[in-house]
Amino acid sequence: MSRRQGDTGHERQSAYKVSAEPRMEHVPRGKPAKAGPYRQADFVVIGGGSAGVAAAMRAASHGASVILVERDRIGGTCVNRGCIPKKMLSYGASLASILSGCLAHTGGREDWNDAITRVTAEMARLHASYKQRLQEAGVQLLHGEASVVSPGFVQVGNETLQAWRTLIATGSRPTALPVPGGELAATSDDVFGWTGVPASLAVVGGGYIAVEMASILSRYGVKVDLLVRGPRLLENFDETIATALGEALRAKGVRLHFNTDVTMLSQSNGATEVCYRQRDGADPQHVHSLRVQAVLAAIGREPVLDTLGLDALDVARAESGNLRVDRQFRTSVRGLHAIGDVIDCPQLTPVAIAQGRWLADRLFARSSERPDFDVVPTAVFSEPAVGSVGMTEAQAVQAAGSAARIGVSLRRFVSLESRFAGSTIPSLIKIIYNARSQRVLGIHILDNAAPEIVQAMAVAIRLGLRLSHLETTVRLHPSVAEELFGPV
Ligand SMILES: Cc1cc2nc3c(=O)[nH]c(=O)nc-3n(C[C@H](O)[C@H](O)[C@H](O)COP(=O)(O)OP(=O)(O)OC[C@H]3O[C@@H](n4cnc5c(N)ncnc54)[C@H](O)[C@@H]3O)c2cc1C
Repeated sequence: MSRRQGDTGHERQSAYKVSAEPRMEHVPRGKPAKAGPYRQADFVVIGGGSAGVAAAMRAASHGASVILVERDRIGGTCVNRGCIPKKMLSYGASLASILSGCLAHTGGREDWNDAITRVTAEMARLHASYKQRLQEAGVQLLHGEASVVSPGFVQVGNETLQAWRTLIATGSRPTALPVPGGELAATSDDVFGWTGVPASLAVVGGGYIAVEMASILSRYGVKVDLLVRGPRLLENFDETIATALGEALRAKGVRLHFNTDVTMLSQSNGATEVCYRQRDGADPQHVHSLRVQAVLAAIGREPVLDTLGLDALDVARAESGNLRVDRQFRTSVRGLHAIGDVIDCPQLTPVAIAQGRWLADRLFARSSERPDFDVVPTAVFSEPAVGSVGMTEAQAVQAAGSAARIGVSLRRFVSLESRFAGSTIPSLIKIIYNARSQRVLGIHILDNAAPEIVQAMAVAIRLGLRLSHLETTVRLHPSVAEELFGPV
C-alpha cells in the first residue's frame, strides 16, 4: 500500500512542503525509488534503538519504504547499555543471593567476568536477530550518523536521504555529574564493559538505575555506598515500598546516605575521594568524604540531540530539554516526528516500542488504536525487586482530594524463596483503591516476583479491577501472587 493511505489533510499538505522533488509514487516494499541525487524513502528513521526499530519494522509491514540510520550498535540502550545486560546481571545477582543463603561455605558469589561473557554473547545474538528481522521486513539499515539538513532531508556521511516523513528516535544518555572532578565518575554505560568489579563503589543517585546498579554490584561482592540527594529512594515510586526496599538493601550490606549533596571528586593513590554534605546532619555545612575505588553517577538522563543539527530548524523543546511533541508525536516542524527517550514520557523500552508502532500505524495504515500510555507497569530489578502499576498512595490521595476517599491494603510476608535462602527480609504488597467503588488504582509489590505479577495486573487494572474480583478469584498456590488476594 502507498503511504498516502494514512494521510490526513494536514499531513498531505506537509508532504508536499517537505519534498523538493515531485511526490513519490507507490514504492515497492524494500525497494525505494531513486530520484535525482537523493536516496528516497517514505520514512527515514534516525536511531536503531527500541523506538526506531519498532517504528521502522511496523512502517515496512504496511508497505512503506523505510531507511533506518544507526550510528552505533543496533538495539540502542535497551540491548547494549540498559534493560538486557542489566536484567541478565540481576539474574546472576539474585542467584548469588540465594546461593549465599543456602551455601554459605562457598560464598555463593556470581563471578562478574563470567556473567559479562554471558551478557556479551546474548547481545551478539540480539544484534544478529535484529538485523535479520529488519532485513526480512524490508527495512534498509544504514550505518552512520544522521543529521537533519532541512525538513524531509537527512544527511548521513556523503549521502542525502529524502523522506516523506522523518522520525527522531535518538534516545538519551547519562547526565554527567556537574561537580569538580565529575568526569572521574563512570556511568551505567560503562558498567557493562567492566572486565572486573571495583572492591568499593560510591553510587550517586536515588532513581531506579542507581538503585539497580547498587543492588546488582553489591551482590557481585562490591562494597557499595549509595548517596541519594533526596530523603528517600525512588521518588517516583510508592513511598512504603521504597522505604522497605531501602531497609532490604541495608540488610544486604548497601550503605545508604540520604539528603546528600556531592560537591567534588578527586583522585589520589589509586582511589577516588567523594566529598559531600549531608543536609540533615548535625552540621549541614560539614564536608564528609568517602574513599572508594570507583564512583558511578546515575543522576538522570538527557536527550541525544546535539549532532542532529536541529537548532537550525528551530525545533521546539520542552522545559526538560526534550523535544516537544503533540499527542501524535509531531514536532513543531512539519514532517518531523519524535518518540522514545527524546520526548517527555516514561523512559522505558515498552513505551518507546508502543509509540513507534502506533506512529507507524497512523502514518502508513488506517488502523491506529492508541495504546494506553496512562497505565504503564514498571519495575526496579533490585534484590528484592519492585513492581509497580497505577497510582501510588500519594498520587491517589492527591487525585481524590482527600485521604478518606482512598483505601490501602498492605500485606507484609516472608516469601518461600526468602525462607529457603534463610532470609527474613519481608516482601510487601500494597493495593491502592477507591474507598467507595473499591476500584483498584494501583498495585505496588516488593518481591523478586513483582515484575512478572504487575505486568499481568496492568491488564486487570485497565479492565476495571475491583477488590471483589481479587476476593473471588481462585488463587495459585504456592506463589507470591496469591498474597494479592488476602491472607493465605
Ligand atoms: C541502565 C539502564 C537500564 C534500563 N532498564 C530498563 C528496563 O529494565 N526496562 C525498561 O523498560 N527500560 C529500561 N531502560 C530504559 C530503556 O533502555 C530506554 O527507555 C529505551 O532504550 C529508549 O529507547 P529509544 O529508542 O528511545 O532510545 P535508544 O535505545 O537509546 O536508541 C537510540 C539510538 O539512536 C542512535 N543515535 C543517536 N543519535 C544518532 C544519530 N545522529 N544518527 C544515527 N543514530 C543515532 C543511538 O546510537 C541509539 O542506538 C534502561 C535504561 C538504562 C540506561
